[in-house]
Amino acid sequence: MTASFDVVVVGAGPGGMAAATVAAEAGCRVCLLDDNAGPGGQIWRGFCTETARKFPHGSSFARWAQRLERSGCQAWQGWHAIDQPGAGLLRLERAGEHRDVGYGSLIVATGARERFLPFPGWTLPGVMGTGGLQALVKSGLNARGKRVVVAGSGPLLLAVGAGLASAGARVEGIYEQAPLARLAGFGLTLLGQPGKLLEGARYRLKTLRSAYRTGSWVVGAEGRGHVEHVTLTDGSSDWTVECDWLGCGFHLVPDLELPRLLGCRIAGGLVAVDGMQQSSVPGVACVGELTGIGGLDKALVEGQIAGFAAAGRRAEALALEPRRKRLQQFAERLERAFSLREELRKLATAETLICRCEDVAFAALEGCAGWRQARLYTRCGMGACQGRVCGAATEFLFGWENATARPPVFPAAVSTLAAGSAEETMHR
Ligand SMILES: Cc1cc2nc3c(=O)[nH]c(=O)nc-3n(C[C@H](O)[C@H](O)[C@H](O)COP(=O)(O)OP(=O)(O)OC[C@H]3O[C@@H](n4cnc5c(N)ncnc54)[C@H](O)[C@@H]3O)c2cc1C
Repeated sequence: MTASFDVVVVGAGPGGMAAATVAAEAGCRVCLLDDNAGPGGQIWRGFCTETARKFPHGSSFARWAQRLERSGCQAWQGWHAIDQPGAGLLRLERAGEHRDVGYGSLIVATGARERFLPFPGWTLPGVMGTGGLQALVKSGLNARGKRVVVAGSGPLLLAVGAGLASAGARVEGIYEQAPLARLAGFGLTLLGQPGKLLEGARYRLKTLRSAYRTGSWVVGAEGRGHVEHVTLTDGSSDWTVECDWLGCGFHLVPDLELPRLLGCRIAGGLVAVDGMQQSSVPGVACVGELTGIGGLDKALVEGQIAGFAAAGRRAEALALEPRRKRLQQFAERLERAFSLREELRKLATAETLICRCEDVAFAALEGCAGWRQARLYTRCGMGACQGRVCGAATEFLFGWENATARPPVFPAAVSTLAAGSAEETMHR
């Protein structure tokens, strides 16, 4: 083991940054680790304090990044938490190098990923996840002049459309599968949260030249060697839009692998936590998207509660409880507003690949009784992504729950696995 801390935080998105900052400010020895090169997670990806204020949510990033830096917290960037070799211990890997870190309290803030639903042509080059496309453009991919269709579900569609438009892309249309009536009802519930309404309006202003259609979804992507056009439907008529890129994702699903490996109780696809963000495993708290897809404010508030609780500052944690409740209710309303329509279960044909790592088509999975049998018979979910993509899809398509998590939770170098097992043998 290289080091031991009072508090270890996994995931340096807003939830993890807030947790690590308040715990370190309260005097704890804190380590914040993340698999990216810098802190920020998804929403603040690639931000740095000097330039962040130019971007949406950038001022908030700059404030938290400066506090984090001053707090005395150790930030370990580029490290994946891959295993729990013993009680109070995490195994980490970075580019083939490994180390263990010990903790008194653990705060897990590993965030969410996009849900992909397979449709004919979804594996064509040029078809990407909505957030994936956004991440590529944030990392320097030139979008100028590209014709882009954004489709799927969730508030991310508008945010990505706006980001692409600002980067010079021609956003040909934004297609949301949720029906207008449901979204209008959701919009009304936001009247008490003008900040969120304003944010949506700002994104829409940036994409005014693009159609925003509700109750519509992609049924196919076509092209020779690369996407050239996509076919969309509203359930009664179909139409085609030419494009260079399609960004398509169906809202978000929490990254539950690490909480599952640690033994945290999962309920309704989320980590079950109490008012102090404590999971069912003593000493392990979970925050942010893991406890409900609710966005930046929820992640920041929950992170602070868990950080204060880990530092024994219960009064400060309790003071945040009313905000936490409101933000959790917002997450529940978001989930209902963007719930997926039945028609999306019918998009894949017999030949459509469901597991693209192992080339497993829909027809091969239809006869399987569940996720475990599908893995054993077809190798679905056994490739490089370890079911991160096809797991959420098969859960929606077939109702299979993938309730297991085996180490390593991220693909790891053989040298890490071999070194790890040699150390464990020596310790026995
Ligand atoms: C692809 C994508 C794009 C998004 N874009 C926007 C947007 O433009 N606007 C918006 O309002 N919201 C966006 N969101 C939603 C946004 O992510 C959340 O609102 C917010 O960032 C949640 O914060 P968090 O701290 O819970 O998790 P995140 O910000 O997701 O942070 C989690 C961090 O943990 C790291 N991590 C995960 N597992 C491990 C591990 N085992 N070891 C080490 N590190 C690990 C991840 O790499 C990540 O850096 C996006 C979400 C996704 C998935």
